[in-house]
Amino acid sequence: MYVRPDAAEKLALMADATRFEPAGDRPQAETRALSRRKPTPEDRLQGALQCIAHVTTPTGQMPVLKAMVTTACEKNCYYCPFRAGRGKMDRIAFQPDELAHTFDQIQRAGLVKGIFLSSGVVNGGVSTQDKIIDTIEIIRRKYGYQGYIHLKIMPGAEYDQLFRAMQIADRVSINLEAPTAERLHALAPKKDFDGELLERLHWSRDIRQQHPGLVRASTVTQFVVGAVGDTDLELLSLSARLYRQLGLTRAYYSGFNPVEENAAGKIFLPPIPCASGGCIRPVFLLRDYLWDVEDFPFLADGNLRLDVDPKRAWADLHLSQSPVDVMRASRADLLRVPGIGPRGADAILKARRKGRLSDLAHLSKLGIHAQWAAPYILLDGRRPPLQLPLFGDS
Ligand code: SF4
Repeated sequence: MYVRPDAAEKLALMADATRFEPAGDRPQAETRALSRRKPTPEDRLQGALQCIAHVTTPTGQMPVLKAMVTTACEKNCYYCPFRAGRGKMDRIAFQPDELAHTFDQIQRAGLVKGIFLSSGVVNGGVSTQDKIIDTIEIIRRKYGYQGYIHLKIMPGAEYDQLFRAMQIADRVSINLEAPTAERLHALAPKKDFDGELLERLHWSRDIRQQHPGLVRASTVTQFVVGAVGDTDLELLSLSARLYRQLGLTRAYYSGFNPVEENAAGKIFLPPIPCASGGCIRPVFLLRDYLWDVEDFPFLADGNLRLDVDPKRAWADLHLSQSPVDVMRASRADLLRVPGIGPRGADAILKARRKGRLSDLAHLSKLGIHAQWAAPYILLDGRRPPLQLPLFGDS
């Protein structure tokens, strides 16, 4: 197989920074394909390999090429290695047919099963979005690729561009970056929260509702947290709105990392922290456990305590004296019990149609962490026995 070496080298040069772009459902678990394959000096794919990550997609984990149309950018987001004004940095650009051809070669070699395509902004978001869409049109039409595609929507992209992106991609990212216009201004002064970003999330909801048979893409967003005073209350309030009103599939939270430079002008990216703020777990409570923002025990400064599990804290307050009857409770009430998740709640609903659940062992067999649930439930109308901790009461 043949890949033009210049294209592979370009991919190698942009490899490090694509780590900052979430391409799948578990960005913290994304690993480079490179680490699973030993390259040789003659290996012409070596550069491209550095841009391949194993990411979690709606259809399972798969190797995905993470690429950018260009690493040049006219905006100056403080968290981004490509921001304008970083003069010493090498800027890389692909033509749509060059990038499409390179992806086709990599994909036909069996090295990837998808592509995540982003870009810096050059000559405005509309012009850049055109290049992203042109690349994917070539991949879909000329090369007949039917697999997974995740596209970034540029700030300021037009309605029809978003519509087209949602037709040809499986997922689109419209990254808000911050929970309010004021916070975004502090983080990315050249981005317009309402006019360039939030409005596109409204459009994606409208497009999905108005053309249900014509679009295939789900919509996700990302927040960069921890740098400009954003609070868990702000982030969770907006996330709840995006999930419930705009049909968002997923909000990601990335910790702010300052981008540093060594003497040669090369970028040095500190390791990405494993999580950020207190939002990672709570956002699942909003999306999958039917929680409301008001259910969270926020501190006076609008943040959550990191040392307290919000689900357990809520249960201690509300369920210790009013336990949930496992044979009669609704799915929503079962989801409030520590140790019972969406799959466990569904398993209980199914199992109790066939017989009585009267013992913690019955719950364990359904995959439920029965000892976690025990203090907050009734089985056969009675509180189940609690297992004593082995070492003191810690
Ligand atoms: S617009 Fe995108 S590429 Fe440009 S500086 Fe901001 S985050 Fe980086």
